[in-house]
Amino acid sequence: MNQQLAKAVADRADEIVNLTVDLIRFPTVNPPGEAYTPCAEYIARDLARRGFETRLIRGEGAPGDNDRYPRTNVVARREGNRPGPTVHFNSHIDVVEAGEGWTVDPFAGTVRDGKVFGRGACDMKGGLAASVIAVDAFLAIFPDFPGAIEISGTVDEESGGFGGVAHLAKQGFFSRPRVDHVIIPEPLNKDRICLGHRGVWWAEIQTHGAIAHGSMPFLGDSAIRHMGAVLEAFEQELFPALDRKQTSMPVVPEGARRSTMNINSIHGGQTEDHFPGLPSPNVADSCRMVIDRRFLIEEDIAEVKSEVTAILDRLKRERSRFDYHMRDLMEVLPTMTEQDAPVPQALAAAIRDVFGKEPEYVISPGTYDQKHVARLGHLHDCVAYGPGVLDLAHQPDEWVGIDDMIQSATVMAMGLNALLRGVNA
Ligand SMILES: [Zn+2]
Repeated sequence: MNQQLAKAVADRADEIVNLTVDLIRFPTVNPPGEAYTPCAEYIARDLARRGFETRLIRGEGAPGDNDRYPRTNVVARREGNRPGPTVHFNSHIDVVEAGEGWTVDPFAGTVRDGKVFGRGACDMKGGLAASVIAVDAFLAIFPDFPGAIEISGTVDEESGGFGGVAHLAKQGFFSRPRVDHVIIPEPLNKDRICLGHRGVWWAEIQTHGAIAHGSMPFLGDSAIRHMGAVLEAFEQELFPALDRKQTSMPVVPEGARRSTMNINSIHGGQTEDHFPGLPSPNVADSCRMVIDRRFLIEEDIAEVKSEVTAILDRLKRERSRFDYHMRDLMEVLPTMTEQDAPVPQALAAAIRDVFGKEPEYVISPGTYDQKHVARLGHLHDCVAYGPGVLDLAHQPDEWVGIDDMIQSATVMAMGLNALLRGVNA
């Protein structure tokens, strides 16, 4: 283990805490995308002070972008003094809403019992702070380094990343030759390396009917009953079939080591908005269902979709007056970086040094910004690695451990050293 690097990180313990607290105090809640600009500007100022060239880049035209809620990203770069690879640390600055059940102010950044509390503490302002301090420690020990280091704070990860990493990736910010290696400090636990994620397919299924007076439903045709037939078929056929599809991807938690589908919502019949509690006495002429299908690297997306349409088409043949409409809402292919790629190797060696044990390689059940790095940036040497307990993300009283941040910053600093200077020691 490089004791100098480890010491340089440990010497910056207060700085890690202060940076995390400052970041939590920007209530970057998404939606709608609150306080993005002041938070990005704060990061830019902090990194400029550490010798980085910084740029603010707005995700113009992205969903949710407007003058009231601009999607402001920050990208910072520091060149070494001779040619070499570029290592990029990417963190999202947006957080989900605080919600109920907090015993501390979610945006105060309370420090207590070796932890920093607040919305985004673990997901992922603590990870951002850890990466900044890792880089700062590295620069203090190795001011004469090859290549370049980049740090970005990006928006909208919690809503798909379109105004953030996707926007930047389309402009070449996550492609060679500008960048070679990407580390995303999401809270996957300090001794785990997350190689990728399962795929996602969101779709809306609509069944049609015919409106009639509710006292004479036989004169109409209920879209809700048709949707009931869809649900029944899903229960009988689709869910059991998905349960049987196991993956070789090391997804955590283990329950997600197979195909899954969630039914996000069902809306059928006429709206109750006009007279709350007084629905209109009509037969439903429309029913809509949104499904959230998570699939595996072993599955083909066309096959994933046809499993659903096969059921719907069969109902159309068998069930009188059944008709449907299907609309794709979102699709993301599964992605998995090879375990022996440079970034996982560098981090694995550092984890062995810091914790004296083998890292655990995992796959996330849900997606994160790695999808855009892979698909739009065509860069595949990318993993998620950062402090914090994944289960705490999005919960009340979210926290990140100070020791965890210091240890994972040490791993990041040593990983950076290996990637840029080709040495682990
Ligand atoms: Zn996150």
